[in-house]
Amino acid sequence: MFNLEDLTNKIKEDNPIENIISEYVPLKRSGSSLKGLCPFHSEKTPSFIVNTSKGFYHCFGCSKSGDVITFIMEIEHVDFNDAIEILAKKSRIDLSQYRRTGERGISSAIYKANDIAMNHFKKTLISNIEAIEYLKKRNIESADIEIFKLGYSGTKNSFFAYLKEKRLKYDDFVKAGLIHKDQYGNYKDVFFNRIMFPIFSNSGNIIGFGGRVLEDENPKYLNTQETSVFKKGNFLYGLHLSKQYISQKNAMILVEGYMDFISLYKAGIRNVCAQLGTACTAEQAKIIKKTCEKVIIMYDSDEAGRNATMRSIPILLKEGLIVSIFSNREVKDPDELVTKMNYSIDYSLIENQRTDFIEFAEKFFKEKEEDEMLSKKHFVNFVIESVKGIEDEITKNLYTKGVLEKLKISERFMKVENNFKKQNPPSENINHNIYHEIIAIMLSENGLCKKLCSEVEESDFLDLSTKGIFISLCNSLDSEESNVDLLIKNDKIKDLKDYIIKRMTYYLDNKPDDKKINEILHIIKNKRTKKRIEEIDMKIKNASDEEEKDVLMQMRVLMVKKIKGGN
Ligand SMILES: [Zn+2]
Repeated sequence: MFNLEDLTNKIKEDNPIENIISEYVPLKRSGSSLKGLCPFHSEKTPSFIVNTSKGFYHCFGCSKSGDVITFIMEIEHVDFNDAIEILAKKSRIDLSQYRRTGERGISSAIYKANDIAMNHFKKTLISNIEAIEYLKKRNIESADIEIFKLGYSGTKNSFFAYLKEKRLKYDDFVKAGLIHKDQYGNYKDVFFNRIMFPIFSNSGNIIGFGGRVLEDENPKYLNTQETSVFKKGNFLYGLHLSKQYISQKNAMILVEGYMDFISLYKAGIRNVCAQLGTACTAEQAKIIKKTCEKVIIMYDSDEAGRNATMRSIPILLKEGLIVSIFSNREVKDPDELVTKMNYSIDYSLIENQRTDFIEFAEKFFKEKEEDEMLSKKHFVNFVIESVKGIEDEITKNLYTKGVLEKLKISERFMKVENNFKKQNPPSENINHNIYHEIIAIMLSENGLCKKLCSEVEESDFLDLSTKGIFISLCNSLDSEESNVDLLIKNDKIKDLKDYIIKRMTYYLDNKPDDKKINEILHIIKNKRTKKRIEEIDMKIKNASDEEEKDVLMQMRVLMVKKIKGGN
């Protein structure tokens, strides 16, 4: 039987967090933890800690925290399943015994089919002079064929003939979108006479192919149809190769097609991805946001490319990305730029020849509309609509300010900012409070967790999320699962979680002594007594006869004494 908990435990056991993180960041011992430079934000003094006994990491600079699985998710920009796969590969865990038949089973069958196809296409390419010549004309050499795993589909139905010869199960190749059954029930190749570009997932599996014709016939480009692992607009071509460079630069250059990607990548501009479609999708914008904060659009410089740029801008902005556009009209596409620069481009060239989206849009409407007032009106509308969609408050305000300055319009007239503020109330601050301290101490040591569970009461907690954590900690005293996991897995309390982990790490290095614990318990008990006094006061107010009032008053005196006496 498949059991996710068993699997994650095994993954964590076999991949000690310090070993995995050390592959990315040099770590040094500091107290009970290891310390290093945070891989998630740039810093000069280390504020990233890894705690081996509790199996978690935390950065005091950017507040990122989690376990070994979330670390891989964050640093490799992959989802949970892919992170598990990566860690399983590293520690040689056979995932098949944990897998459910069904969805994951179909996926791996498709990956396998695509892998067989990729190898076959590659072999076919190497033996096809015409295809090799075609690639040479585009400056693609044999080393590149290896890097990008390029291939050639061969002539019509040559791939199916290969499957037949090898006695492979056709069904998997139908599911992978490589062959299909025609109306007479005969299998046919989907791709023929095409240069094949395998499209990889983040974890390195081939999810589909793009095919480009050798001669100029239509359709020029053909992608795998939708399959259970290949959804149009749901991936970015080349990300598995470029993600580390995108992270380093905190910026992605977004291009249209495979050839744009390959040209730039070869010319030394490696923080690049291709969207494989006319405009960027919301799903792609989300993927970009997971990898970096800035995006530079670099589509074809013709009208179609500029229109596509205008369509992509609001989609990218919505995710809170900083959007600029590479705008050199003298070259028609990235490939021409690379050729013009003699196949080697310095990154500063990209930096120097880009404009922000506001400038780009202004120019776009000026060229499109002769009437100055009308072009201004379209421009302002476009910018306001684009900025309105930005979900991230800070980015939205920065852009609003920029637009207003540019247009020399006073905020009073626009009322833009006011509307924004109404839509998004500022998030509440979490105060450093005694309840959070209790949770942090409970997480730091089992013995203290037990003590506090017995002395503190559920009803002492006023805030529901903190109360929830307290209850689950008390319930899990004898469980196998680490306490920290309970907290890390709770996504509903993100800000609170960061804070509590910060305090827990402090307590791991500065174990609270009895005095400190008693102090905390004293405060809690006093709060409890005060609450009781308030309740008694209410009862006194509502009491109908004098005798009842008297009893209540005596109770009240005892309670007050308790607070003063310190017990
Ligand atoms: Zn950080």
